[in-house]
Order: sequence, then C-alpha cells, then structure tokens
Amino acid sequence: MKILVLNAGSSSQKSCLYELKDVQSDRPLQPLWEAKIDWTHQQNVSELKVQTAAGSQLEEELASESRQAAIYRMLETLWKGKTQTINNLNEIDIVGHRVVHGGQEYQQSTLISPDVKEAIARLAVFAPVHNPVNLEGIEAIEKILPNVRQIAVFDTAFHAGLAPATFVYPGPYEWLENGIRRYGFHGISHQYCARRAAEILGRDLADLRLISCHLGNGCSLAAIGGGVSVDTTMGFTPLEGLMMGSRSGSIDPGIIIHLLKRSDLTAEKLDNMLNRNSGLKGISGVSADMRQIVEAISQGNERAQLALDIYIHRLRAGIGAMLASLGGLDALIFTAGVGENSPIVRAAACEAFRFMGLKLDGDHNLQSPIDADIATADSAVKVLVIHTQEDWEIARECSKF
Ligand code: ADP
Repeated sequence: MKILVLNAGSSSQKSCLYELKDVQSDRPLQPLWEAKIDWTHQQNVSELKVQTAAGSQLEEELASESRQAAIYRMLETLWKGKTQTINNLNEIDIVGHRVVHGGQEYQQSTLISPDVKEAIARLAVFAPVHNPVNLEGIEAIEKILPNVRQIAVFDTAFHAGLAPATFVYPGPYEWLENGIRRYGFHGISHQYCARRAAEILGRDLADLRLISCHLGNGCSLAAIGGGVSVDTTMGFTPLEGLMMGSRSGSIDPGIIIHLLKRSDLTAEKLDNMLNRNSGLKGISGVSADMRQIVEAISQGNERAQLALDIYIHRLRAGIGAMLASLGGLDALIFTAGVGENSPIVRAAACEAFRFMGLKLDGDHNLQSPIDADIATADSAVKVLVIHTQEDWEIARECSKF
C-alpha cells in the first residue's frame, strides 16, 4: 500500500511517500520519498528539497510560483527526474492530509468528501492560517489524481474526548453554543508519542499515565490517561497555554482590554503581537529559536536569560496542571525541536518534580538520545525523549481506511 502524506504549514509544505507492507507494524518506516517546500527565506521564491530512500537528492529554487504550482512541481519529482520513485501516479493508493482544525464535528480521521471539504473551509474561521492551506493541498491532489481516496487527519481529533469541565471556557454560555471552546492541537504528535512511549516502556498504553511535552516552535502539553487525552494546554487556538517561540501563550485577557482602550490596536496588530512578536522572541529581542537564546545567555544577555526563565516557569506550571488532571504519572515525554534537542530545558523542567521521586540521569540527558528513557533506574517516573513522527502517524491513520 503506497500512502502519500501532505503536511502543510503556514510557510512550508512537507510531503512524503510511504510503502506499508505490514499494516500491523507500529514502527515508523523510512519514507521512500520526502520533499519540503520552504517559503520562509526569500520572498516569492519557493525552495524545494527532495530526497529518496534510494539516496537521490534534489534542490531547486522556484521563482514567483504560486503555492499550487510549487506543490505540483514538488509532486512531479515523485514520478520524474532523478528523484523518481514511482512509475505512475496510479500507484498511490491513498493520500493523507494533516488538517489543523476539525472543530466539534470531526473527532477522528475522515474520508474527504465535498461535505468534509466544505467543513474544513468553514472551520477556517477558527484556523485562518492553516485550514486554507490544508484545503489547497487537497485540491492540488484532486487535480492530478481525481479518483484517489483522500483522508483528513485532524490535529484536534486526539483531544475530542476532553470532558466538558476541561473544554468549556468560563465565559458566557453562548461562547460554547458558537463553537468557542477549547479544542487542543498537536494531537497527531501527542498520539504518536503516547503509543511510542508504551512501546519503549514495554507496557500497555491502557495502563499508562503520560504527560507529553511537544516543544517546537509551537508548544503544548497533553495529559494522556489510558491512551486518551484528558487535558491539554492549547485551547480555542494554538495561542493558549505555554510560552512558545514567538507566541505568548496564556496571558491575562485584561491586558488586551487595557491595550484596546488605550491605543489604536487593530485585530491584525494584536494577532501579530501575540502570535509573531511575543514568546522567546518578544522577551529576548534575539530570536524565537531556543539555540540562539542559549547562545545569547552564554554571552551574558539578560533578556535572553529572562525569556528562558519564563519559558521554564510556565512549562513547569503546565506540567503541574497536567499532573493534577491525571492524578499521577508514569512517564514524562519530551518531543519536537526543543524537547528532543535541549538538555537544558529538559533538566530544568524535571528539576521541579524531584519531590515526587522523578530523577533525571544527567549524562544520558546531555546526549539527547532518540526514543530512550533518560531517567535514572530508581526514578519513580520515566522520562522519555521521543522523536515525533507526525507524517508516519498520518500514514498509519490512512492505513485504517
Ligand atoms: P515546528 O513546531 O515548527 O514543527 P520543530 O519541532 O522543528 O518546529 O522545532 C523547532 C525549534 O526547535 C527551533 O525553533 C529551535 O528553537 C528548536 N531546536 C532545534 N534544535 C535545537 C537544539 N539543538 N537545541 C535547542 N533547540 C533546538
């Protein structure tokens, strides 16, 4: 079974092709072909990078191409040129898409129909950056493979089982009636990490209490009991919760009222302020990238130090909240760019939980091993570093159809 995965972000489009021979296999497979288009570096230029399991590589800069044209060119490298991996498009059995917002309706991966597309478009009011680009990927595939089955794998779906007390905001009741509630995100990553954790620990997922810390550019925690998300830090949008690279995370909404009353703040300016110019970047004035924050701290930059201190304080507070929702903890999981690569962040987060017998193995932590337990043998709680594999998780969801 050949499964093509499309994972669209605001400024990048990733894609890969998997071949599943044994659908029972839980171990992530190496994709046959993987590609990425990056729009972040140069204006009106799409940077395309492709590599195949057979070892071929391709790099191209596509000038002034539309997003759709760039996606088409990316897909073309699957069946043409030096990265050719399939002979013809019809070899693709199914296409899976990461769709950020599934709203209240879509609580699991869903076969895409005109109704589903209409819902994804409608839900763009909740996810204006992501849902439209997800839809663009679906339409690009429709053009070149009109009869292939396409599956929407929602980032919100893993949190669909949250209890009302967890997902309802204590604002006016009409909010809830209008879909203004907590949804949670990064679900594909949290779901993958939970299953992988059970595998690493050799335990049944149904018996585990886990806290998954997805710390990338966006950051969120999930409290996972018996394989189900029981709490999470992101809410109505991916802005709630932890301090992130350039997003503030939770702040007192009174600040917004204060600013609106005293300045010419528009919704767009507010959006920019909270989503793009806050977090590590806003506080440090250096960067949203944790590597540069740590580098600046080593040169004595006090604002970078403050940014890291707030990040850690809020991460610890978030873990504490998840702990209360779970009522105990078997393993703490670190994943995504910062979670997988920053011993400093992991050590500082864990330090606060020594009181409950959580003991980190300092040397092992420094090595940032992949898919391994970095707690000491006598620690009451396991601490896992897991390389998140969202594309693989999407492929796995597709294999169920
Ligand atoms: P996204 O949320 O966009 O998928 P990633 O999971 O790739 O992002 O995480 C990106 C972030 O990971 C970078 O901004 C950087 O802060 C962090 N990161 C990557 N490598 C390291 C490292 N070696 N040490 C600390 N942070 C790192």
